[in-house]
Amino acid sequence: MSLFDNTEHAFSSKSDAELKKAHYLFQLIGNSTLTNFGTLFFKLPFATNLPLVKPVIKETIYKQFVGGETAEEGVKVAKDLFKYGVSSILDYSVEGQTEEAEFDHVKDVMLHLVEIAKNNREIPFVVFKPTAFGRIELFEKVGKKQALSAEEQKKWDNIRSRFDIVCKAGFDADVNIMVDAEESWMQDAADDLTDEMMVKYNVNRPLIWNTLQMYRHDRLAYLKQMYEKANREGYYLGYKVVRGAYMEKERERAQAEGYPSPIQPNKEASDRDYNAAIRFIVDHHERFGLFAGSHNEFSCELLIQLLTEKGIQPSNRNFWFGQLYGMSDNISFNLAHLGYNIAKYLPYGPIKEVMPYLIRRAQENTSVAGQTGRELGLIKKELERRKK
Ligand SMILES: Cc1cc2nc3c(=O)[nH]c(=O)nc-3n(C[C@H](O)[C@H](O)[C@H](O)COP(=O)(O)OP(=O)(O)OC[C@H]3O[C@@H](n4cnc5c(N)ncnc54)[C@H](O)[C@@H]3O)c2cc1C
Repeated sequence: MSLFDNTEHAFSSKSDAELKKAHYLFQLIGNSTLTNFGTLFFKLPFATNLPLVKPVIKETIYKQFVGGETAEEGVKVAKDLFKYGVSSILDYSVEGQTEEAEFDHVKDVMLHLVEIAKNNREIPFVVFKPTAFGRIELFEKVGKKQALSAEEQKKWDNIRSRFDIVCKAGFDADVNIMVDAEESWMQDAADDLTDEMMVKYNVNRPLIWNTLQMYRHDRLAYLKQMYEKANREGYYLGYKVVRGAYMEKERERAQAEGYPSPIQPNKEASDRDYNAAIRFIVDHHERFGLFAGSHNEFSCELLIQLLTEKGIQPSNRNFWFGQLYGMSDNISFNLAHLGYNIAKYLPYGPIKEVMPYLIRRAQENTSVAGQTGRELGLIKKELERRKK
């Protein structure tokens, strides 16, 4: 019997009708033929403009995984979740910016989100992807310490300044800033930049948080190295620890370009390093903030055990659990019920713009053996319980 089996807590925020709808939806996306067809269909540029497509998407998969079209709509959803002790992180899910003006716009969106977070205690973090502030090729070049042209140097200075403006706004408003991790070939530059922000702003507590992807075989050593550095220099480290989302892409690129894959040889190795990382952080908790971003029940239970062993209170604001909105409510709501800090990534944006995000969610939920099987089983169990 797992801590996360209580479906009454898990779905306390869902009406019978909403639960039935979720059941139907997970059945649909569990069908790989349908999901593969949908993936191809929504890659067509005109797909979302066809009659009926938008309203159908909006009422189904969009409602399951997205908080609304605007940040303000997201805040409403966040307030509903918070009635059950579940916090939210508004995730601006518009992807694929390439121009300086677009990067500046994302920076302004982040400043707006800092203001929202400052005034709404149900939103404890503001999050961004490094490549929402600048082109991935530039991160790669800087990470490899290659020479930049004058134009590139100017653009890199712009990226640094966007990072700094948002992190300073977080510091001034006492709002946590989280930086997502992306592809390994851009990550060195993003790590250095985020570490620079931590040195500057994590003077009183972990306020700037970077992300460690434990499917990379070098991350545990990196974590320990950063701990040594932070100890020497006297600042706090905040880390979201995840397994990692770009495995296939990483392996394919490494093979195509003939360099050793940065990814662990198998799932067990990723699991081992994930659990070792959260253990290391809890063991050295005076220096760290930890956000465990995972749908893995074993890892979440392990973290509860580690916190309990160290006498760290569930309400300690340096320790967080996190799942995605629309997934693994059994973990999120049961953790909240036990008094732990838990925040769901709550994406928002217009339908057309969040389609790539929705396709990724549908694809990762296709396997009936995996996430969908779990979600469906729990929803069925709760529907049965409510009938009694
Ligand atoms: C709140 C939150 C924030 C997130 N932020 C980020 C982020 O910033 N950057 C990012 O990259 N991801 C991010 N993710 C996604 C995350 O990295 C995982 O892809 C996802 O959560 C699935 O892992 P899991 O721990 O939940 O579950 P599990 O089902 O236990 O693990 C699945 C993961 O294990 C790893 N894996 C699977 N098979 C293998 C294999 N054969 N060899 C090696 N490893 C394998 C992969 O990373 C896979 O995603 C985030 C997830 C959450 C919940």
